[in-house]
Amino acid sequence: MTKEKFIIDSSTVLKFIQIYCDDKHKDATKLYETLQLNYLNENLDEKLEYHLCSTCKETFVYSYQRLKECPHDEKPRCRKCPNPCYEKTQWKKLATIMRYGGIQLGLNKIKKIFIK
Ligand SMILES: [Zn+2]
Repeated sequence: MTKEKFIIDSSTVLKFIQIYCDDKHKDATKLYETLQLNYLNENLDEKLEYHLCSTCKETFVYSYQRLKECPHDEKPRCRKCPNPCYEKTQWKKLATIMRYGGIQLGLNKIKKIFIK
């Protein structure tokens, strides 16, 4: 996939996880952190800032790693992927988060990239 697509997909995932964490884990201890995006061994001119609890951070880092290693030039919708890279439990977790965020934002278009 292109760098631009990688940046968009990474920030989309983060946006959804952030919404979920803000709503569901209001009382959890959270840290402000920044992730320097890196794709194909190149540091991109793009940083993502987040404020997540440790569980959501783990989910985000996991998703980011999977995205980074996605072997497809044109990333298919994950559900249609011939060789899905997510572990089942992680996938379920993220699907729940994306569905929740999709409802909050009403952005079905984005939700489809990951869920349908
Ligand atoms: Zn959280």
